[in-house]
Amino acid sequence: MITIALSKGRIFDDILPLLKSAGIEVLDDPDKSRKLILDTNQPDVRVLLVRATDVPTYVQYGGADMGVVGKDTLLESGTQGLYQPLDLQIAKCRISVAVREGFDYAAAMKQGSRMTVATKYVAIARDFFASKGVHVDLIKLYGSMELAPLTGLADAIVDLVSTGNTLKANHLVEVERIMDISSHLVVNQTALKLKQAPIRKIIDAFALAVKK
Ligand code: AMP
Repeated sequence: MITIALSKGRIFDDILPLLKSAGIEVLDDPDKSRKLILDTNQPDVRVLLVRATDVPTYVQYGGADMGVVGKDTLLESGTQGLYQPLDLQIAKCRISVAVREGFDYAAAMKQGSRMTVATKYVAIARDFFASKGVHVDLIKLYGSMELAPLTGLADAIVDLVSTGNTLKANHLVEVERIMDISSHLVVNQTALKLKQAPIRKIIDAFALAVKK
């Protein structure tokens, strides 16, 4: 049995064509079913639905043999024990700094001044501002980061941006792109040894489909 951990939403939707290229079709629709273990057309392949931030944990401890996870999540949670064979080039976006319209970001970034930054991505934000030699006070949030600059909770946010529509709708502007983000395949290292042939087959099919 090969168990693949996925999160609902963008990653699930974007991985379906890649799974298909490996001959795997998920039989249940996660939007209609409440099942957390989904069958596929391959009797020896199943899909686990887990939170995006839990995918590395499931794969690291062998609850799943492989999984698909955003680079943002990997950078935040660490990648101990995970084999990362492939950038799948799906669920692409970027992680950026955004501020309220009219906020003088350049002045706030001047060395010596202090800025408050709200984010779910504390590790990424800390590394980024440290690399610029800017001291920031970080506030950890779990969602709706856009509210922080609007309510005075923070001067800036670090968040994922795709079209930029969410920022625009909340009168925020993207002032700096920290890095591009896409989803990666992660594999449990023991599973790779014990189930080498079927796992390699999936990795190779994904690699071929990504290149196209
Ligand atoms: P957008 O309005 O298209 O810029 O999308 C921004 C919102 O969608 C933010 O709340 C992000 O946290 C979220 N988002 C954008 N891209 C992704 C992604 N690839 N994975 C997860 N969340 C995303």
